[in-house]
Amino acid sequence: MAGKVFLVGAGPGDPGLITLKGQRCLLAADVVVYDYLANPRLLDDTRPEAERILAGKHGGGPRVEQEVINALLVDRARRGLVVVRLKGGDPFIFGRGGEEAEAMQAAGIDFEIVPGVSSAIAVPAYAGIPLTHRDLASRVVFTAGYAEAGTPSDLAPGGEIAGPRTTLVLLMTQRQLASNMNRLIAAGVPAATPAAVVEWGTWADQQTVMGTVGDLAERAAAAGLQPPALAVVGDVVRLRARLNWFESKPLFGRRIVVTRPRRQLGPFADALEAAGAEVVPFPTIETVPPDSYERLDDALRRPAQFDWVVFTSVNGVHAFVARLRTLGGDIRAWHRARIAAIGPPTAQALSELGLQVALVPDEYRAEAVVAALHEAGVGGARVLLPRAAQARDVLPRELERLGASVEDIAAYRTVRPAAATTEAARSLFARRRVDLITFTSSSTVHNFVAAVGTDCAALLAETAVGCIGPITADTARSYGLAVAVQPAAYTIPAFADAIVAHFRTAPRRPRQTATGG
Ligand code: SAH
Repeated sequence: MAGKVFLVGAGPGDPGLITLKGQRCLLAADVVVYDYLANPRLLDDTRPEAERILAGKHGGGPRVEQEVINALLVDRARRGLVVVRLKGGDPFIFGRGGEEAEAMQAAGIDFEIVPGVSSAIAVPAYAGIPLTHRDLASRVVFTAGYAEAGTPSDLAPGGEIAGPRTTLVLLMTQRQLASNMNRLIAAGVPAATPAAVVEWGTWADQQTVMGTVGDLAERAAAAGLQPPALAVVGDVVRLRARLNWFESKPLFGRRIVVTRPRRQLGPFADALEAAGAEVVPFPTIETVPPDSYERLDDALRRPAQFDWVVFTSVNGVHAFVARLRTLGGDIRAWHRARIAAIGPPTAQALSELGLQVALVPDEYRAEAVVAALHEAGVGGARVLLPRAAQARDVLPRELERLGASVEDIAAYRTVRPAAATTEAARSLFARRRVDLITFTSSSTVHNFVAAVGTDCAALLAETAVGCIGPITADTARSYGLAVAVQPAAYTIPAFADAIVAHFRTAPRRPRQTATGG
């Protein structure tokens, strides 16, 4: 089978800004070759076995030569693989996408282009600057602030670059900002023209410096702006004073690590992102089948023998029902047993399956469940407890103390992340680029420490720790971590609210340095 290369635009950084078609390509990819402007979070959409290769230049960092990248794409496609070349922004706006396509054509490799949201458009938008406006600008010019030695600059005097009602967007401008602005002035652009430079637009690190063509370079240098950055010149820049929507979000600029398993990121990550945070998933645990299904299968075949089924997690619900389906069973056979759920998400997972939950305790801890079950008359009852293989002993022990007979059965097992994922996370913490790490259960804490090592307190020296409830917080403290955020109620929405409240007053993280990209 012949392979194929897709040149896919990754968007400017915010992972929500990839296209549906781009995402579908990632899902189908055997190989992904990405550059540093593409948010690595997009790789979560690839299959676990897909090969991932970081290639492309990094301001100051190692640079993979274009010929090497082209050869790599050709080689993988010739092996019959589906190759996604994931490029920051749009593949055909700078960034040499056109050259890569030419190389594919010359090598006789089938290729497709999947356009992306270019930083040239998205970054001004996230800075609150509309590129056109009925009253101010009806023409937009995208140009490179950087010219290879020997090629004429687009900003040379006499060029048609700027004029009335024109917005100029300068990419690749960072190190040449002063000379770029001087050229504009020499070309007749008034020094008082409003101008802005935006660094790491649409990421948590977005920073905007405002000024005029006359003083922008000086101001940007004073603020220590680093690549990637682009400049916008024109009267539309003034609108930012009123339209700066992104940088005014409560969690703007905050990078938050979420340790929940990938499949359970959903509502929590959504709430944090809606508040403006950049969420970095670090699934310290993933759910996999138990070592053996023997005991679960046995219990699933004896529905009449249980008075209660107590679910302590959404995973437990899904594992139970999935296995029942595999065995060809029918949930209606369980009509005798009453169902208890340890918290609202678990109760909701059950109710979504059309199952009525008889009991949800007011407090969502094992101890509170025991008290509530006691009240509901669990003494002497037969209780099925399908849950994680490594779960705490409290629940079965206490229920047995109440005279219940408990079958504590492993319905699933949790495992640690791959070494590469752990290394990436360690390096983020070490470079002080994380504002908060969140733990939503004791096991996420244990697994985090198991993954990164027992020097976790030193590693998290510059990172605040948030825990969903008192038991999780105690576990964190037992590893020497100071807990800065803990909601009054142990729920995901309350946790997200507490995080917003915490950062309303917390000082900003020092900006990344040149080595921090
Ligand atoms: N194909 C890309 C551009 C690649 S050239 C696109 O369409 O966006 C690289 C330049 O893009 C950088 O030097 C910078 O000027 C700009 N750029 C890319 N991502 C950016 C971001 N998140 N914030 C600011 N500028 C960005």
